[in-house]
Amino acid sequence: MLDIRIDTKRYPDRGGRPHLALSGLHMQVARGEFVCVVGPSGCGKSTLLAIVGGLDRACAGEVSMDGRAPADLGFMFQEPRLMPWMSVLDNVLLVVPDGLREQARARAVELLCAMELGDVLDAYPGRLSGGMMRRVALARAFVNEPALLLMDEPFVSLDSPTANRLRAMLVAQWRRCGASVLFVTHDLREALALADRICFLSPSPGRVVLEFAVDLPRPRD
Ligand code: ADP
Ligand code: ADP
Repeated sequence: MLDIRIDTKRYPDRGGRPHLALSGLHMQVARGEFVCVVGPSGCGKSTLLAIVGGLDRACAGEVSMDGRAPADLGFMFQEPRLMPWMSVLDNVLLVVPDGLREQARARAVELLCAMELGDVLDAYPGRLSGGMMRRVALARAFVNEPALLLMDEPFVSLDSPTANRLRAMLVAQWRRCGASVLFVTHDLREALALADRICFLSPSPGRVVLEFAVDLPRPRD
């Protein structure tokens, strides 16, 4: 169980007044559960993911997973964030800890094949379409078999057939590895297609103002 309690998150003063980004945000994600976080731009969704992922800290509050700081995380951001000077395969292996890279290679290749990228393992990102780059980023998010996947609008600004295909690939991998997912989007239709549960955040400062369970068919290939 992922337990998130962010009592306050302030950013440093801008023009003299402190900026409260999150306030009283409490939520939980069960093991293997897919939770979407929906809210208006600027309500603190990216901030929430950064704190859960240990990239930033709450000013007051605590995040724990089964009683400890979350470890075994996979990330996917709005931009694919690929290294242009590294091959597709090496971009996926980049997030694997040093001593484990050789043994992760087969899994990385398998994931890339599942993403229909088996023909471009040695290609450089500059040669890939936007949809292909997102598929590389998706493979990278899963390569360490994470217990928790943090996704920040990973399919934004793709055409809808491409986004649907990526969602189906995400769902297939998520089912295989049983990770908990915290998925940020401002697209309610996307949230309804993916989530077990949807949490709505208020406008800034963000907190959960509504949540409900969803039971709809998920995207499939
Ligand atoms: P969302 O992802 O929902 O659009 P963000 O988490 O990016 O929201 O931002 C929440 C609020 O905090 C916004 O008002 C934003 O301008 C502010 N903010 C985000 N990051 C920083 C930062 N590093 N420094 C100062 N203010 C920030
Ligand atoms: P989002 O699409 O999630 O709303 P933003 O454009 O708000 O993303 O933020 C992009 C990046 O800029 C984030 O890393 C965020 O922390 C940072 N950022 C956002 N708002 C501010 C701000 N007012 N001052 C400094 N950094 C900010």
